[in-house]
Amino acid sequence: MDSNNNKIEKVVELLRSSKHTVVFTGAGVSVESGIPPFRGAGGLWERYDPEEVASIYGFKRNPKAFWEFAKELLVKTKAEPNKAHYAIAELEKMGIVKAVITQNIDMLHQKAGSSRVLELHGSMEYVDCLDCHTAYKWEEIEKKIEKEIPRCESCGSYYLKPRVVFFGEALPSDVLSEAMDEARKCDVFMVVGSSLVVYPAAHLPFIAKENEAKLIIINYDPTDRDELFDVVIHGKAGDILLKIVEKLKHV
Ligand code: NAD
Ligand code: ZN
Repeated sequence: MDSNNNKIEKVVELLRSSKHTVVFTGAGVSVESGIPPFRGAGGLWERYDPEEVASIYGFKRNPKAFWEFAKELLVKTKAEPNKAHYAIAELEKMGIVKAVITQNIDMLHQKAGSSRVLELHGSMEYVDCLDCHTAYKWEEIEKKIEKEIPRCESCGSYYLKPRVVFFGEALPSDVLSEAMDEARKCDVFMVVGSSLVVYPAAHLPFIAKENEAKLIIINYDPTDRDELFDVVIHGKAGDILLKIVEKLKHV
């Protein structure tokens, strides 16, 4: 833990002199909110087949399997933002963080107060009927899902697809190009809670590095990309980010 304290000091120094920090988050930032990640200890892939529940092919074969999975991931957990989401929002208020790029679909950064959030994999905010194109707000679907697999009220179809990027689908090109711009512009690029294995999202730290940004990673487990980073902290995002914000405020 002592060595983590030294690393936290290093992060504080980098953030204090940064003019444009970009935070890049993955499922790990929401673990302390009770949403399990895909990979790592307690990861969903230990119990679900990604091909079945998170690919566009699986969804088209059987949308019900996806909704059972979504219920466990997003409804049963009744997730609220945690210390890590709030700390990242605070760093934006302090003028340090200019953008949050997230792979998450849970909308917890916005709920915590971050205003510039680039959602690389979309979000659950809207759900579309693939048959009759009726659009629903997530809250309407969320209410139904407690009792039954949701169906379209207009046409009865089970093909209700949230505006998230499934495996096998392309990322929204406007969001991806904004995220790439941010990676080029920033002087500090800070990864929080990502295993950095899902591409093209995981390419962004490389772009930042090529443009001479300092790279920080805060992740519970080591990743295969740790050697790319100037500061590597292994631990829980909430505790670590809270310490960082407190130190930035009190010196
Ligand atoms: P991942 O599941 O591959 O990896 C999560 C990483 O978070 C792991 O390396 C783990 O060590 C780390 N971690 C776990 N608890 C942590 C904590 N308390 N603090 C810091 N780190 C912690 O996640 P990924 O890289 O985001 O890729 C998975 C894909 O899954 C993404 O595309 C994302 O869209 C999707 N996903 C999203 C959610 C969500 O919206 N909350 C949840 C699960 C998966
Ligand atoms: Zn319909």
